[in-house]
Amino acid sequence: MSNIQVAACHVAGCQASVFPELEPQGFCLEHYVGDAMKRLHSALADCRKGGAIERGDLEKLAQEARFAVNHLAGNETQEASANRERMIELVLGVANLNEHMRRSSMRETKEK
Ligand SMILES: [Zn+2]
Repeated sequence: MSNIQVAACHVAGCQASVFPELEPQGFCLEHYVGDAMKRLHSALADCRKGGAIERGDLEKLAQEARFAVNHLAGNETQEASANRERMIELVLGVANLNEHMRRSSMRETKEK
């Protein structure tokens, strides 16, 4: 493989190495995407219940989706297919969430 020193994932028990782009977060790719998916699912659930989503949360998810898009575009052959599938799911989920937000803000404007 490579001889570059890489940090290990911060999640207890995980032996995977941290991606250079993810060093500030300290997660391996799988845990990074897993964490984003968890927040995405709770944001989607809140959204369906008609709750508001913090702008900061949405921005963070958008960043994570952008990371996934860039990663998918740049590392086609290296990534395990399970990780690729999860990243695609994340990108689609964030798009879905944005659509929900857009529709609910349109609805609000009409009702006023
Ligand atoms: Zn990990």
